Amino acid sequence: MEQTSKISKFYQKTRSERLDLLKAHGFVSENSADLLMTTTGISEDVANHLIENQISQFSLPMGVALNFIVDGQECVIPMAIEEPSVIAACSNAARFTRSTGGFKTSFPERLQTGQMIFYQIADFANAKQLVDSRVDEIKQLAELAHPSIVVRGGGLVDVETHIIYNEKDQAEYLTVYLYVDVKEAMGANIVNTILEGVTPAIQEWLAAEKLMSILSNYNTRSLVTATCEIPFDLLATNHLDGQSVAQKIVKAAHYAKLDPYRAVTHNKGIMNGIDAVVMATGNDYRAIEAGIHAYASRNGSYQGLTTWQLDLDKQMLEGQLTLPLLLGSLGGAINALPLAKISQELMQVDTAEQMARIICAVGLAQNFAAVRALVTEGIQKGHMSLHANALAIHAGATGEEIELVASRLRALERMNLAKATELLTELRQ
Ligand code: NDP
Repeated sequence: MEQTSKISKFYQKTRSERLDLLKAHGFVSENSADLLMTTTGISEDVANHLIENQISQFSLPMGVALNFIVDGQECVIPMAIEEPSVIAACSNAARFTRSTGGFKTSFPERLQTGQMIFYQIADFANAKQLVDSRVDEIKQLAELAHPSIVVRGGGLVDVETHIIYNEKDQAEYLTVYLYVDVKEAMGANIVNTILEGVTPAIQEWLAAEKLMSILSNYNTRSLVTATCEIPFDLLATNHLDGQSVAQKIVKAAHYAKLDPYRAVTHNKGIMNGIDAVVMATGNDYRAIEAGIHAYASRNGSYQGLTTWQLDLDKQMLEGQLTLPLLLGSLGGAINALPLAKISQELMQVDTAEQMARIICAVGLAQNFAAVRALVTEGIQKGHMSLHANALAIHAGATGEEIELVASRLRALERMNLAKATELLTELRQ
């Protein structure tokens, strides 16, 4: 595998040259490149029917992170994000993994979760036994409720029953969990339809009150793992040898498991990458966010999600990230958002499963970029350099003025809005 991506100096090109390069390397078709060049939003008709009370459209810049190899496949990562430096950091991090073959992933199962919550039950143990003994009937009811997902090879795979007990208020609930293979969809509507079809029968069997039946975004039966190896040699800085930098990265990830104040920001860095791709693919980022943060708390305290360790024999830093990720390649709003489909094309994916594998790799790359910077030169130098454009825009610069003001800001010891305004005024005199 080549250590440098075939696409180089991408950031120095114009937007149209970037699209030509992506086309030339087979990451987008002619039609998709045209759409990326000309699109300014979704059609008014679609926008007005996607949500209620629509008054306008809210735009975000969309860019691509480069240098990614995931499971042996070169891919380009589409990102919709307003924060500078995320895409640059992600692309740079992916470069460190290329000499060892890039990111490797595993995804043992991909099942969406639903729950039916019952209460006012005389004998919980009996009720649990009853539900557990009627799983075949539950599966038949699920098929009747949503036959098309079964025709597609999916449907209800597994049923679990748990007694949920809270000592403080003495409340007891019997919760029946359904695990559903939703194929290419994210499956919220599919699972909710199945739940509504199954719940009345279980309620009748139990003679219980129903609290609710709803999908759970805590997708613990849809865990994807990404790993990577980075040679110590690549980590050396002017002040530290590579192994010392690797040791600091291991310590930083360890510390993020001990202190929630650090863990939240550690994970925010991971989500910088994940959210940006989830947005670009038209998926439900609220669902993904909620599930991932719950997973970060699974041991009883909120912890950093990545693990980094040293392999002294191989002289490598090894990273690992496991996340609950259940995205769709279709369904929801995805088919209504033209750029969402182009994002799949850029990533070179055909399935929602492949998409999740890549997104997990992006999270690991983003974490590596942030932690490496933090334990070496700090993030502010790189961040502020890229933030200069935003400051120039905030000060009122337009067109060519933006780059002129930003480059003068970068040459200063300190940059702020007042300085940007002053430089813009000077420029216009
Ligand atoms: P949809 O309701 O759009 O269902 C998927 C659709 O895709 C179905 O119509 C299905 O067809 C069709 N389809 C075509 N090919 C396939 C295939 N290969 N595999 C699976 N489906 C296929 O979307 P989801 O059920 O995925 O629900 C996602 C939406 O639900 C998102 O917009 C999300 O924001 C929202 N939502 C989220 C909630 C949450 O996260 N808590 C709660 C409620 C809604 P067919 O009809 O023939 O089966």
